[in-house]
Amino acid sequence: MEKLNQLYEGKAKKVFATDDPEVLLVSYKDDATAFNGLKKGTISGKGAINNRVTNFMMQLLEKEGVPTHYVKELSDRETLVKKVSIVPLEVIIRNISAGSFSKRCGVEEGIVFEQPTIEFSYKNDELGDPLINAYHAVALKLATWDEIETIKKLAFKVNDVMKAYFKNLGVDLVDFKLEFGRLSDGTIVLADEISPDTCRFWDSETHEKLDKDRFRRDLGNVEDAYIEMKKRILGE
Ligand code: ADP
Ligand code: UDP
Repeated sequence: MEKLNQLYEGKAKKVFATDDPEVLLVSYKDDATAFNGLKKGTISGKGAINNRVTNFMMQLLEKEGVPTHYVKELSDRETLVKKVSIVPLEVIIRNISAGSFSKRCGVEEGIVFEQPTIEFSYKNDELGDPLINAYHAVALKLATWDEIETIKKLAFKVNDVMKAYFKNLGVDLVDFKLEFGRLSDGTIVLADEISPDTCRFWDSETHEKLDKDRFRRDLGNVEDAYIEMKKRILGE
């Protein structure tokens, strides 16, 4: 597979065309942003960790019956994925209150929910990814009702698999963001990434934060948290 022209440079990844029109090459960067791009920085080694962690999670989820865009890991930072048309929704699952939920609802972080919650943000940087509901998503033609139903089912399945997997590693899966896309035949698959950039991970015993909140909140030891999560997930 040949790497061709760059199609897109995002905040955390670059996307390249390949000689297969159905396949893209994703390259993970060390760049980090938070608060809708207002805070910028670098987390040394992050790109390689997020690439490896994402690919590990995508393969685990495939085994558990969740269709994903994953094709092949090429190197530390580069991976081939099936090209999709991204559904412009950030799908957020929460098991424990934190972050924007705590702020919006005026509750402390760390409330363990009896059932996971789901919410959608309209993926639009100019608007700051506003919170919307499923009716808004359908009204805006971001997705059909059938697609929303599929996405919901898959997102909760991802949560079941990941929550159990991380529990075994001594990590509480607090919340995370997923993106889904459509293959050329319309099939909905899980796309983008699953990493300490897109999930909140708390050590089950110490409740230490092992994710991007260390960068967002200037907690220090940011690199160490990513390395620790990589070690627990990949055993290296
Ligand atoms: P952002 O666009 O939010 O800055 P990234 O830096 O992670 O994010 O850029 C990666 C881009 O690639 C995102 O816009 C994401 O939606 C998109 N993407 C992820 N997986 C695929 C895929 N399989 N096909 C097409 N686009 C994808
Ligand atoms: N998240 C993400 N990208 C975003 C917004 C959120 O990956 O653009 C993830 C974030 O890492 C967390 C979850 O989604 O695991 C919920 O984030 P929240 O809504 O609490 O927003 P934040 O506190 O990150 O602003």
